[in-house]
Amino acid sequence: MKPRDRLRIAMQKSGRLTEPALELLNRCGLSFRQSRDKLFCFGEGEPVDLLLVRDDDIPGLIAQGVCDLGIVGRNVLNEFKGIAGDGGAALTEWRSLGFGRCRLSVAVPHDMAYNAPTDLSGLRIATSYPGLLGAWLRENSVDASVITLAGSVEIAPKLGTADVICDLVQSGGTLVANQLRETDVLLQSEAVLAGPQSLPTDERGDMVELLLKRLDGVIQVRE
Ligand code: ATP
Ligand code: ZN
Repeated sequence: MKPRDRLRIAMQKSGRLTEPALELLNRCGLSFRQSRDKLFCFGEGEPVDLLLVRDDDIPGLIAQGVCDLGIVGRNVLNEFKGIAGDGGAALTEWRSLGFGRCRLSVAVPHDMAYNAPTDLSGLRIATSYPGLLGAWLRENSVDASVITLAGSVEIAPKLGTADVICDLVQSGGTLVANQLRETDVLLQSEAVLAGPQSLPTDERGDMVELLLKRLDGVIQVRE
């Protein structure tokens, strides 16, 4: 990896976290010139640039050192940490950012009898978070089959491809619309500033410290 003298932050290119993440960075005094390919945005004042990518790619980009920091859901960060072994263990949450709040929950058909996680034994559970779900099933000594789906998890029971689901929930409206009932919360999530456990020792490290200080100011004002 070539040494860099500018800090590089990865964030979601287009989705729920995009607008609030940009607004937060703006409030921290950072502004960016939008490039034509819209993947890379050059920072105008401070030496901080943006990489706009799919949220799922953000932890890997930090682990590889392509980016120094990332703004990503705790759900995506923890899933990566769970399945990426050593590379994932090196990542940490520097700050929680207070937007993109949701939870990762198990939900069952509304007419299914459910008292405890062991009731899931032998069932098929559809999810986009096999790492987090697998860990929770192990903790609860449940032997179920995990079916990994990239999207549209909530319709799997209706389609007959799974019995129950484990998916992100915000208001619960999607669950109700699909005749599902939330039973267990595996993770409370929100957007976080993710980065390596130890910060760069060059000028980029100073820039991170400045950014964290400004972030704390902005987050405090909000609360
Ligand atoms: P990408 O194209 O970047 O992969 P995506 O479809 O995976 O996009 P979004 O749906 O924009 O991502 O969600 C981004 C993040 O927003 C989630 O990982 C989660 O942290 C948070 N989030 C908040 N509420 C919800 C919700 N109701 N459903 C899904 N994600 C939510
Ligand atoms: Zn995604």
